[in-house]
Amino acid sequence: MSWLDRQSFLGANSEQRLAEVTVGLVGLGGGNSHVAQQLAHVGVGNFVLADMDHISLTNLNRLIGGTWWYVLKRTAKVAIMKRMILAINPKARIETHPKQWQLAGDVLKRCDVIVGGLDNVRGKDELDAFCRRFLIPYIDQGMDVHKLDRGHGHLVAGQVVLSEPGSPCLRCMGIVTDEALAEESRKYGAAGGRPQVVWSNGVLASLAVGLVVQMVTPWSRRARPGAYLSYDGNSGLVTEAERFRRWNAASCSHYPHTAVGDPSFDIRKFVAGDVSAKHAPLGWRDWILRSVRSWTNALFL
Ligand SMILES: [Zn+2]
Repeated sequence: MSWLDRQSFLGANSEQRLAEVTVGLVGLGGGNSHVAQQLAHVGVGNFVLADMDHISLTNLNRLIGGTWWYVLKRTAKVAIMKRMILAINPKARIETHPKQWQLAGDVLKRCDVIVGGLDNVRGKDELDAFCRRFLIPYIDQGMDVHKLDRGHGHLVAGQVVLSEPGSPCLRCMGIVTDEALAEESRKYGAAGGRPQVVWSNGVLASLAVGLVVQMVTPWSRRARPGAYLSYDGNSGLVTEAERFRRWNAASCSHYPHTAVGDPSFDIRKFVAGDVSAKHAPLGWRDWILRSVRSWTNALFL
């Protein structure tokens, strides 16, 4: 019996597949804090966490795992997420990079899938380009709040997009546009924090986690590459975006298939020992040490 028995419907070897997959989480704000927590519960075994920020008071309305104690200590978000994941799954292997994600490129390019929690268009564009280059499926989450006319309140809306080889990219889907990039650079430094709430972040993050599990295990197959799920937070409806449904180009023109690969790849750096060591089972001493460490973290930090 295993702690993952209730999800055995995910298919043959799903537990092992999830334990072996490496997920990169870039940007650990409201959205990706849900993703980190859920992936730990699902049994994902390897994480690369990149975010240069520390928790602040205004994060407490939405950062899963965030507490007053962490705010007082100005703890790095990557450290908060690492402790949360280990408290759920002490066997998880986690690399933390408390810096700009671009500086962790060498590690991120080894990920099997990357989930972005970036709230600026420039960052989304760069991360999509990075993932296209290294043939990594990229899941982007975005949420916004729009003021409605004549005192009708606000519209909460968002989307989750899976950009992968053979599917439309963020530019094809209109998530990244030249106008949005120009608008963002005009406002640079003047824009305040975007409105964010925990429950709509949670809906989008859950959709993103569903896509990750769908990619890794055999429980369900998507009919075609990519995905664009559109969320209307006022009605609570999630639908496949019309723009994605109508997209039928043979390939994305922004990232031609010739512009892929790693110019710095050197086969001599990959010896068999390194690869097998990554997935070597933990000895019982390691397991006890990790468990005690995560319980201590959960109780006192
Ligand atoms: Zn494109």
